[in-house]
Amino acid sequence: MTPQRMAILAYLDGNRTHPSAADVHKAVSDKFPTMSLATVYNTMETLKTKGAVIELAIDPGKKRFDPNPGPHHHLICVHCKEIVDVHGNFSLNLSEKERCGFDITGNHVDFYGICPKCKKKGRHNPHIIIPNCIQK
Ligand SMILES: [Zn+2]
Ligand SMILES: [Zn+2]
Repeated sequence: MTPQRMAILAYLDGNRTHPSAADVHKAVSDKFPTMSLATVYNTMETLKTKGAVIELAIDPGKKRFDPNPGPHHHLICVHCKEIVDVHGNFSLNLSEKERCGFDITGNHVDFYGICPKCKKKGRHNPHIIIPNCIQK
């Protein structure tokens, strides 16, 4: 394992910010100024293949990575795209009819809203449409 890859792993260990490859690059380039963004991308892809990180398709502009591959759900800020882990145990049972013959192997819930930081900035009224989101 290269020192670069070890630095990326150290940054991801226990990281709960769901960073993008650019975030990872920014964090580790202090220590490794010669590390390219492409190296970070490649490392993240490798880690993804190994199941060490999960790729999140929440932010259409950039891929975000979750270093916590265990089962959990997310709170997502519609303004700043902050992602916070939720470890609630929700009862998400589908009826026989709704399951359409599927054997269910897992589930994931995304809660959308406005984070405390954005609320402080007065961002109360989002005019952002989130596809596949049932807005209350
Ligand atoms: Zn926010
Ligand atoms: Zn997460």
